[in-house]
Amino acid sequence: MSTEHTPDVVVIGGGIAGLSAAALIGRRGRRVRLFEKAGFVGGRAVTQVKNGFSFNVGPHALYRDAAGIRVLAELGVTPRGAVPRTGGGHAMLGGVGHAFPGGPRELLMTRLLTFRGKLEVARLLGRLSALDPGPWQARTVGEWLASVAHAGEVRLLLGALVRLATYVNAPDLMSGGAALEQVQRALAKSVLYLDGGWQQLVDALRAAAITAGVTIETGVRVDAVEEPVDGGTRVVRLADGTCLRCTSAILAVAPEDAARLGAGAARALLERCSRDAIGVRAACLDLALDALPAPRTTFGLGIDTPLYFSVHSAVADLTPGRGALVHVAKYLDPLAPEDAARDLAELEAFTDLLQPGWRAHVVHRRFLPRMTVSHALVTARGGGLAGRPGPEIEPGLYVAGDWVGAEGLLADGSFASARRAAELCLARIAGATVRTAPGLSHSA
Ligand SMILES: Cc1cc2nc3c(=O)[nH]c(=O)nc-3n(C[C@H](O)[C@H](O)[C@H](O)COP(=O)(O)OP(=O)(O)OC[C@H]3O[C@@H](n4cnc5c(N)ncnc54)[C@H](O)[C@@H]3O)c2cc1C
Repeated sequence: MSTEHTPDVVVIGGGIAGLSAAALIGRRGRRVRLFEKAGFVGGRAVTQVKNGFSFNVGPHALYRDAAGIRVLAELGVTPRGAVPRTGGGHAMLGGVGHAFPGGPRELLMTRLLTFRGKLEVARLLGRLSALDPGPWQARTVGEWLASVAHAGEVRLLLGALVRLATYVNAPDLMSGGAALEQVQRALAKSVLYLDGGWQQLVDALRAAAITAGVTIETGVRVDAVEEPVDGGTRVVRLADGTCLRCTSAILAVAPEDAARLGAGAARALLERCSRDAIGVRAACLDLALDALPAPRTTFGLGIDTPLYFSVHSAVADLTPGRGALVHVAKYLDPLAPEDAARDLAELEAFTDLLQPGWRAHVVHRRFLPRMTVSHALVTARGGGLAGRPGPEIEPGLYVAGDWVGAEGLLADGSFASARRAAELCLARIAGATVRTAPGLSHSA
């Protein structure tokens, strides 16, 4: 077993959380080594190119008013892409398509809602941005919906918007406050579909990290982060037996991986996080088509079914100049039994409704039956966003990812916790007192 001397910080995991944390620390002049067990960085944010079509891992949209955009700006990265149009979409109810009420004109025209329903939606949309998510953090989405939406049809529509914004299909588990915050974010500034897919972010973060002096090593699995020794330094053990000493380590990995890596009291805490985490999952049908049978139909949302359809190439550059890149997804109920064959049949049938004849146009298709969109659903029972574990597990050992910290859902949780973990590492290296209690402290 060899022991190498290293830097200030070791980052484990090369997804967007690990890359962001590494870049933020590196640009402050600290030595950082990042290890990624896969042969490439990016984690779930990678994009695969097939026949010239750019496939994200299921539908990916970057929130324009959230932590991700701010961390990227801090690192000098400006995402390139466009905002999907709200007009022309379909709201699918009982297998029938209606105009999706994405704007005042569509709300007036749609047959999805009765006249009273339309009035209620108009009023609700007018005041949604002013609602305070705080009191709803520890109450469920179902309770929140019942309190703000009176007509059943309005509740169904708002429930579909919650699924769209959060990916969560568990109204009786999810925190109403976390859902409301995310819907507010979506309505305020919408999202970006990115040119070339999320690989654009991965490449930019990787470049920012390298420019900041970070050493990135792919194809290297970390096996353990040991308890601190003399003066608080830690030993990080790689799969080949190499040991590295560092001041701090950031575990930018899934909660179960973090639990396996930790030692002693940290391990016990991380095991608890992993046990408590309810994964947010989706079944995804990603399609490259040589043409769209119904070119004007670029968006469809299930109102009474947890289904999503969107032609991402209608606004972002994702094709070789022809054809369409389409994402179809089912928001999986965490409490329902798994049935991949049923989910695929539902995804295909939904696509039949929106793009009849699509099967004759397939250039490439990929079915991902059970993707982890986020490692931990934000529950009402846990107190909402504030109930997620904070980035500091103990001094010198931090976590980052979409299951960490009190800010942001999905990738924005990864970005926000990465920034907080980076700040805590920097403060520790500088010898400053970090005012966060050890253990499952919550992020600032
Ligand atoms: C279908 C789908 C749709 C999504 N849509 C959206 C969306 O619309 N908007 C949004 O904001 N987010 C979305 N997300 C979520 C987003 O992709 C993730 O939140 C984000 O990419 C997570 O980044 P991360 O770095 O935290 O984790 P990951 O990307 O999972 O990275 C963790 C990395 O750690 C590595 N690793 C693990 N163990 C070790 C070890 N022992 N040693 C070395 N390396 C290790 C893994 O290989 C992996 O690369 C979606 C995700 C999915 C799956």
